[in-house]
Amino acid sequence: MLLINKVFRVGTYIRLSREDGDKQESESIGNQRKIIERYAKENNLTLVQEYVDDGVSGTTFNRPGFNQMIEDIKAGKIDMVLTKDLSRLGREYIQTGFYIENFFPENNVRYVSILDGIDTFLDTTNNDITPFKAILNDMYAKDISKKIKSVIREKQKNGEYMCSTPPYGYKRHSSIKNKLVIDEKVADVVRKIFEMYDNGVGSILITKYLNDNHYLPPRAYRQIGKVIDENDFEHNWNEVAIMAMLKNEVYIGNSIQNKRVSISYKVKKLKNISEAEQIRVNNTHEPIIDKDVFERVQCLAKARGTNTKLKYEYLFRGLLYCKHCGRKLQIVLKKNQKRQAKKHPYITCSDHKSRGCYALNMNYDKFETQMLDIIKQICKIYANKEIFSGMYDTVTKKSLNLKEKLNKSLNSIDKKIADINIKLDKMYMDKLNDLILEVDYRRYADNFIQERTKLLEQKSELENKIAQADKTIEDKGQVEEKDKELEKLINEFLSLEKIEKIHLYRLIDKIEIDKDKNIYIHFNFAKLEMISQNMDEFIEIEKIIGKMHR
Ligand SMILES: [Zn+2]
Repeated sequence: MLLINKVFRVGTYIRLSREDGDKQESESIGNQRKIIERYAKENNLTLVQEYVDDGVSGTTFNRPGFNQMIEDIKAGKIDMVLTKDLSRLGREYIQTGFYIENFFPENNVRYVSILDGIDTFLDTTNNDITPFKAILNDMYAKDISKKIKSVIREKQKNGEYMCSTPPYGYKRHSSIKNKLVIDEKVADVVRKIFEMYDNGVGSILITKYLNDNHYLPPRAYRQIGKVIDENDFEHNWNEVAIMAMLKNEVYIGNSIQNKRVSISYKVKKLKNISEAEQIRVNNTHEPIIDKDVFERVQCLAKARGTNTKLKYEYLFRGLLYCKHCGRKLQIVLKKNQKRQAKKHPYITCSDHKSRGCYALNMNYDKFETQMLDIIKQICKIYANKEIFSGMYDTVTKKSLNLKEKLNKSLNSIDKKIADINIKLDKMYMDKLNDLILEVDYRRYADNFIQERTKLLEQKSELENKIAQADKTIEDKGQVEEKDKELEKLINEFLSLEKIEKIHLYRLIDKIEIDKDKNIYIHFNFAKLEMISQNMDEFIEIEKIIGKMHR
């Protein structure tokens, strides 16, 4: 296939600026040159002259290399200009705009900005955003916003408290910047809230207690400055705030920040950050709440869920989720059809009929016995160092092999995508040069684009799988501290005569059940999860626990 017939004499322009400094390798002269050379090769361009400005700011057009290039254009030595991105050409909008909109066209010069996809000789929509990009470069907004963000993040990593308002129970240190100290005026209120919940009082009753006694909620306290105001009926506590407080690690002295970040410097919408990306620093300030109390409260909060009125307390209540709709499963009493008199607890997805989910109807008592057996088995495997390390090595090896395979597939998909892009580009050029008809172009292009969409889907699927494999491999390097914690929990668990809810909650995150009564246990510890996923290969699990359901 043929590209544009004209052979361009290409001048490349490279600029390393003071503001980019040496810090950003991506902007280095060598890197700019590499990108340009690769592009030239892929597009069969002949580079005639390279113009370089080293250490010259993008806000001035008084640059020796740039000036030489302009002279050469006027002299007709080059008729195409290639830069890595638009900001290399310049950061000053009016001037940059002048060259792109006036000077280059007047001198019949084609301008290509590789990373922005701008090509003044092509009718591409990328060109339409050129003025906006130039404006952004002018403002330098993106980079500035990034810099501020990373400074804040650094501070958060150092355990500094960067949020605008301290949480209820704390105030700012009088002299140390971004440091929290206990606000003794209200610390007892916080303690009271945790104590009540720890003693089985639910969030609704706690809310009622605080409102009945005229405690001002956090924001009103900050505004009015009083802990209790008998005359104020306007400000009220609510359960959501109470639950958020009960779950906030700030009260045991930890800082978790970067919970939400804005998506970009332009869009100030906040997006939630996965737990792994949050910045957690332990012991940054004095705790108000005892770690033990806090942990018990977390277990209780999980167990209660949204159900505040528990009639019967089942060991697994609160841990069970429907695999299909994701909702918490209910345990209900049902009459046994054969013997009308006796009622049995059943696990069910409530309102399943109206919501189009499945009834499940699983006998809870049997489930509980068998589940406890399985969890004990898993703990025993972990406790047996020989079995466990054998299993561990095998799983790691498997994951490594799998990852290698997945990476190979990923590479081949990438190649295919690149291939399609090249074909699309070439076809597009042919269309511009009237080498193929519009209808034919559409037909071919649609096919290619469809194929590319499929490939991109496959790609993201593969990337997910690779991330999963990575997780398994990485877990081997889990910190020793976590191992010790797990070891302690397991020994405790195995020595228990009667297992309490709290022990289960420490080990298990949730248990999912599907319509075929398959059970999926999610542990709080990757190693236990690994055992549960692989144990049937190592021991005949069926023999130990029998058939899980029915
Ligand atoms: Zn369901």
